[in-house]
Amino acid sequence: MTLNVGVIGVGMIGQDHIRRLTDVLSGARVAAVTDVDLDRARTVADDLPGATLHPSGQDLIAAPGVDAVLVTSWGPTHEEYVLACIAAGKQVFCEKPLATTREACQRIVDAEVAAGRRLVMVGFMRRYDARYRAMKEAVTSGDIGAPLLMHASHRNPSVPSFFTSDMIINDSAVHDIDVARWMFDDEIAAVTVLKPRVSSKAAAGFDDPLVVLLEMTSGVLVDVEASVNAAYGYDIRGEVVCEDGTVELSESAGAIVKRAGHFSGRVPADWRERFARAFDTEFQAWIDAVTAGTTTGPSAWDGYAATVVCDAGLAALSSGQRIPVVLGERPDLYKEI
Ligand code: NAP
Repeated sequence: MTLNVGVIGVGMIGQDHIRRLTDVLSGARVAAVTDVDLDRARTVADDLPGATLHPSGQDLIAAPGVDAVLVTSWGPTHEEYVLACIAAGKQVFCEKPLATTREACQRIVDAEVAAGRRLVMVGFMRRYDARYRAMKEAVTSGDIGAPLLMHASHRNPSVPSFFTSDMIINDSAVHDIDVARWMFDDEIAAVTVLKPRVSSKAAAGFDDPLVVLLEMTSGVLVDVEASVNAAYGYDIRGEVVCEDGTVELSESAGAIVKRAGHFSGRVPADWRERFARAFDTEFQAWIDAVTAGTTTGPSAWDGYAATVVCDAGLAALSSGQRIPVVLGERPDLYKEI
């Protein structure tokens, strides 16, 4: 059976996921597209044999030829489309964020709980990265003892001019926030944001880098250095320190060359290069689960928790204070993180 996927939002990542669904993965095809820019959507549809063009996301979701939906539009539009998918009983893969406010995420969680089954997967693709998975395996095996703390770095070489310090938390560190919850099967209890010396490469009025300190409810501390003007490449690093040893995120998937007393390896240019395989694995898992009549992966609760922690991070950034994270009651539908 081929899963007929409708895509809402054909910008950068929407088109990358369409390529993935069309050329890389098996079991699915892009059956329908829409975008707020209909000319852009038409151009994309013209390259997809048999794909229909829809005037709006709501129209696409209602279409009988659409089995499941991919939401890759701008973040503030996600709530409307995810709620419509739940109302239509259709599985939906929503790129992060699930929604941009705590209240909107709560409405999605409530709707899914009322529907009585999981219909939403959120695109936190690091959970599907082989290097992160190996790291989590080492932590959960117990071989190196109980975890005490984690050091993480999230470095972007540069960002567009519209990027702000808030987006370092909402757009970049949100992935580290999800990793921390997933790595330790635990919730985040409080957030503090520290501001080191500002990089001369940062735009005026822009605090970069930031150190985001996450306190897990178990007491594990996670420090995330988030930099968006690192210049030399896209560098994602991590180390978990445990009672009997440590585990480091492997630095390179490629070859390390040693020559003339030096060694060298490649630093990825951007997130697409670093996480290409993770995106493939994530999507194949979604296609397989939806085809089997279930769902998988990061849930609406994970999307809700990430947004609540980001809100605390923004409050910590503007106030300079330690901000406790107050989550609502986790419904039974979401038993595991
Ligand atoms: P983008 O290039 O701006 O694409 C968003 C697309 O959605 C644009 O074509 C936009 O049109 C369209 N759109 C806006 N409002 C819409 C609406 N009401 N209905 C239908 N389409 C609408 O942005 P992007 O970089 O692809 O990001 C899209 C989403 O993916 C964001 O939520 C982002 O956070 C997420 N993302 C996740 C990752 C990851 O690492 N997992 C990486 C990148 C992006 P206009 O351009 O005309 O507004």
